[in-house]
Amino acid sequence: MKRNLALGVDIGGTNSVFGLCDEHGTVYYEESISTKDYAIPEDLVDSIYQRVKSVGHLPKVKGIGIGAPNGNYFSGTIEFAPNLDWTGIIPLARLFEYRFKVKAILTNDANAAAIGELIYGAGRDLKDFVTITLGTGLGSGVITSSKLVYGHDGFAGEFGHIRVIPNGRKCGCGRKGCLETYASATGVVRSIIELKSKNSESSELIKMTNPQASQVFELAEEGDMFASEIIEYTAKILGESLADFACFSSPKAFILFGGIAQSGPNFAKKVKGYMEDALLHIYKDKIEIRISELHDKNAAVLGASSLVWNELS
Ligand SMILES: [Zn+2]
Repeated sequence: MKRNLALGVDIGGTNSVFGLCDEHGTVYYEESISTKDYAIPEDLVDSIYQRVKSVGHLPKVKGIGIGAPNGNYFSGTIEFAPNLDWTGIIPLARLFEYRFKVKAILTNDANAAAIGELIYGAGRDLKDFVTITLGTGLGSGVITSSKLVYGHDGFAGEFGHIRVIPNGRKCGCGRKGCLETYASATGVVRSIIELKSKNSESSELIKMTNPQASQVFELAEEGDMFASEIIEYTAKILGESLADFACFSSPKAFILFGGIAQSGPNFAKKVKGYMEDALLHIYKDKIEIRISELHDKNAAVLGASSLVWNELS
């Protein structure tokens, strides 16, 4: 049987998603399991193996791509991931190789998303771009000359932890003012509490007990002035940060991924406006802001599986 499918595995703190797809990004099978149900990673690997076997696809698996928090490409390990119950250094790529007897490639989830855009998504026609994933935090993956930048130790491209506001909001990394504390779903929610203006008292947001980032975007659409101010603030910090990141790799585009990026074309347009205002002259009018094309498909599985086609095809 021809080995023409890649197994993509996205390890999350709550759920892990895995699936099989071909080199064009057609997903043949996808399933989600609860990461927390597995006390040790060997059991999770075995469970995925049994499920892939039971649907009859095992002989077609060419390789395995894994996206994981704090995933290290060079060592194939997850290192001290704060939102996983497994502690220390986990040799996850080796565990998959041992069970499936095919090559496994591991990297962090934002890097996997960047390769996913390169192979099947909004970066297919590009050689130099940066993906920005806007979720609970902010992740990034830098592609230059069609290759992902890993750095000497595998941890390159942590733009979410570039400090943008001196002594600003406290970040999960232990420092203050990191970009992801502002430009992420959680950052938007923090802005509801921290930004006060003459418009905040009349805003629906102030009355909500557990407001979500998506509601800020919805209310802004309906004319809520305070919600609009929060979006403007978020877009400004992100846009100005992208202007600075451009100095590093001179990308042709930034590709935005995640719920916030999907909240209508206005947000991307605003980010682009603030970026252009802040860009160094030599970069002006040269950098696009694109929206991910992995949305609505099977983004996590596609991102992870793309590692296989990127290296083994
Ligand atoms: Zn940080």
